[in-house]
Amino acid sequence: MAINTKPVKYIFVTGGVLSGLGKGITASSIANLLKARGFKVNLQKCDPYLNVDAGTLNPREHGECFVTKDGAETDLDLGHYERFIDAELTNTSSVMAGRVLLKVIQDERAGKYQGEDVQIIPHLTAAIQNYFVLASEGFEIQIVEIGGTVGDYESLSFIEAIREFGIKVGKGNCLYIHVVYLPYLSASEEIKTKPAQNSVRELRGLGIVPDILVARSEKKANHNIKQKLSLFSGVELDSIALLPNAPTIYEVPLTLEDSGIARVVLDKLQLKQSTPDLVEWKDVVKKAKTKFTKTLSIAMVAKYLDNCDTYLSVLEALKSAAWHNEVDVNINLIDASDYDGRDDKIVKNLHKNLMNYDGIVVPGGFGIRGLEGKIKAAQFALSQKIPYLGLCLGLQMAVIAAARNAGLSSATTFELDDQAKDQIIITMQDQKDKAMTGGTMRLGNYDCKITDNTLAHRVYGKINIVERHRHRGECNNKYLKQYKDWGIKVSGINEERNLVELIEAIDHPFFLASQFHPEFKSRPNRPHPMFDSYVKALINNKI
Ligand code: GLN
Repeated sequence: MAINTKPVKYIFVTGGVLSGLGKGITASSIANLLKARGFKVNLQKCDPYLNVDAGTLNPREHGECFVTKDGAETDLDLGHYERFIDAELTNTSSVMAGRVLLKVIQDERAGKYQGEDVQIIPHLTAAIQNYFVLASEGFEIQIVEIGGTVGDYESLSFIEAIREFGIKVGKGNCLYIHVVYLPYLSASEEIKTKPAQNSVRELRGLGIVPDILVARSEKKANHNIKQKLSLFSGVELDSIALLPNAPTIYEVPLTLEDSGIARVVLDKLQLKQSTPDLVEWKDVVKKAKTKFTKTLSIAMVAKYLDNCDTYLSVLEALKSAAWHNEVDVNINLIDASDYDGRDDKIVKNLHKNLMNYDGIVVPGGFGIRGLEGKIKAAQFALSQKIPYLGLCLGLQMAVIAAARNAGLSSATTFELDDQAKDQIIITMQDQKDKAMTGGTMRLGNYDCKITDNTLAHRVYGKINIVERHRHRGECNNKYLKQYKDWGIKVSGINEERNLVELIEAIDHPFFLASQFHPEFKSRPNRPHPMFDSYVKALINNKI
């Protein structure tokens, strides 16, 4: 394996006790603090799943599939990473076990191992390490989060890979941060450290001595707890950061900064100490925590209601647009499938429900369930002039809604009926030709040219934009000449492929929908223009 000769510093973040502790937020926050000190920082997520990427994972269980500019379908933690360091990551930042295994097996088939026995150690671990090196090119600090919980059978090869890697790059070039949980026992009103101690022991048993502990808890732990944890885990007192639940995830970098952990990181990595520039970030946190006088209510007509993570980037984009405009926002998820039927009563119920909201959002989605409900919601937004934001599937539903409102009741999409006569949304031949499911959609960045004097033009303030995609369907160009009669127009296209990228309603306070996913490029400190303008429209419409 080619060890990087450049002095890249590596930080590995593992987790113990239980999953869902916020390892991703911890890794992102540390990256944020290092970036605020001027370092070139990159983040990477290693996931133990045997899937090659996150594109085939169920969003109900795993949350949103985040798409990078180069079209990688990744874990939602990459969304946190991008938002916390305000950077655009690439496919090298997302490594699933299946991807590494596939590479090893392909190499074996190609004869690259020259007769060796191909083994977990050293071949798979070396392949994992190659991904660390690959991703770190051009950066000063590479932070790698290892998914899962230490001790899980399936993450063992990643743990072994980071152990070996630490030896290869040497002390001072690598450090290990372990995120643990401190449960609170209400009966005795105390915070317990035993599970955290055990988890550190487990990590040591695998050959890794953590340099830093980040201890998560529901309630604020006190100094005694920290001392106890230090004593029993052998981690120095000043290398332990306490992280109680935060009112907003964006506060975590500030809490970690106050804990002095960034200083410890720099010390251990033999990097120069400096003061971070956190002015803008503090402003974000202040706004995120402020209770504003005005509250907007948004109906998000969606499919998965039991896991908000499914729409994580959309929710974050809406929230940051709200702070930016100094309003609060209540986002209610409405189950589109409750309104799939076509009878009048269902339509009436949906209208009754949607009337209570300032705006309607239809986010991305796949599969048949809920499509009819989403079309009806878009029809209602059009006819009642309720501000509407459509994201990917939300555009497809909007065009069908416009066609149906104008009398073309047979208007539909390939997903509902791929034999239908009036398929307003179709798949292009290149999609039809694809036999496999994984990684075959229109993915990642595509250019879009915005039409002059449109709402989209006012929103973006420019003509040429680049946005990220993840879909199979497209507007059927056969129907474009009817759009005007349907009360909508195309306001952005991809010239190269002649594909519709943005549509809007002609006579409406705000009805804008994109075939791409603008939410992936929104930032807590810089809401995406589509979300920002949408929130502004909601405010204006409410007065
Ligand atoms: N299911 C639709 C398609 O594949 C929309 C996808 C999405 O919303 N990301 O075209």
